[in-house]
Amino acid sequence: MTPIDSSKMTKQPLPTIYPLIDTHTHFDAPIFEDDREILAQQAHKQGIHHLVLVGYLYQHFERMYETERLLNKLSLPTTVNIDRQNVSHFSSHVAVGLHPFYITQHTDNHLMAMAKRIADQRPLAIGEIGLDTFTEAMKTPDIFAKQVRFFKAQLDMAVTHQLPVMLHIRKAHAEALAILKAHDYDAHKLGGIAHSFSGGTQEAKAFVKLGFKLGVTGQITNPNAKKLRRAIQAAVDSYGVECLVIETDCPDMTPIMCQISEHNSSVTTQSSDQERGNAPVHNKNVPANLPWVLLSLSELLNVSPTSLAKQLWHNSCCALQTKWVYPL
Ligand SMILES: [Zn+2]
Repeated sequence: MTPIDSSKMTKQPLPTIYPLIDTHTHFDAPIFEDDREILAQQAHKQGIHHLVLVGYLYQHFERMYETERLLNKLSLPTTVNIDRQNVSHFSSHVAVGLHPFYITQHTDNHLMAMAKRIADQRPLAIGEIGLDTFTEAMKTPDIFAKQVRFFKAQLDMAVTHQLPVMLHIRKAHAEALAILKAHDYDAHKLGGIAHSFSGGTQEAKAFVKLGFKLGVTGQITNPNAKKLRRAIQAAVDSYGVECLVIETDCPDMTPIMCQISEHNSSVTTQSSDQERGNAPVHNKNVPANLPWVLLSLSELLNVSPTSLAKQLWHNSCCALQTKWVYPL
């Protein structure tokens, strides 16, 4: 293959379309209100076949289900493959979860209502859940203890309903790993994704060893994200490309070549710590940007995008416990 130098990548039309699964989005966020249908069509054109809407606040669960219904009703062009299967479809799926960053907003009623909702309307997964000590306030013992309690309670739900989890772990990898090791949740059996993985090499390997896939975002497109690139490379060296999935985490984590602002380095400082929809509108990340994550990863790992796309599809199905048929 010809190596692709992502530092020189510009947002040109893609020469090849690869079938992809966006394993983590907030495409239900208000920032997409005006152009969601157009963006879904663009995503579909760029090869996105499945998109997961991931929960963070109880009050928005209904909005996610509404978005799912809207997206799944869209009439998008379909194509058939040589086996006459209808392959070019686009569907969205919901994961529900109470995000650790918003811990002060969650109540025990939310937990109970979430448990009931899961029993009534089985989601694709539970997420995003985990631990986050990004700010000083979140390190205070009572706030952190509440994060731990909600994390464990949602892991319990995952076990009860045999659902995969989507982890959000930031600056609390050791604590999260200790909880996961002691818990009945078995990612080798139930799947699961360490979304927008941000730890170092040892943590990357530790999550994979527990059975989780590492979720790679647009951060990988930044040549300066050296720690992340090293961690992903090391996990692949030890466990193979089988340990990865990709995601946009839109509207955050815009790939560097898709950023319009002159301050391209902002990709590393973007975070999911704001209420969704506060990202600058001109620079919001969209599901159609996912192929750039694939291409950067392809270059980093020296694996052809064609075989990487197929492997990532398989990995996503494995992590989400689905059997979506690869379209090619
Ligand atoms: Zn997220």
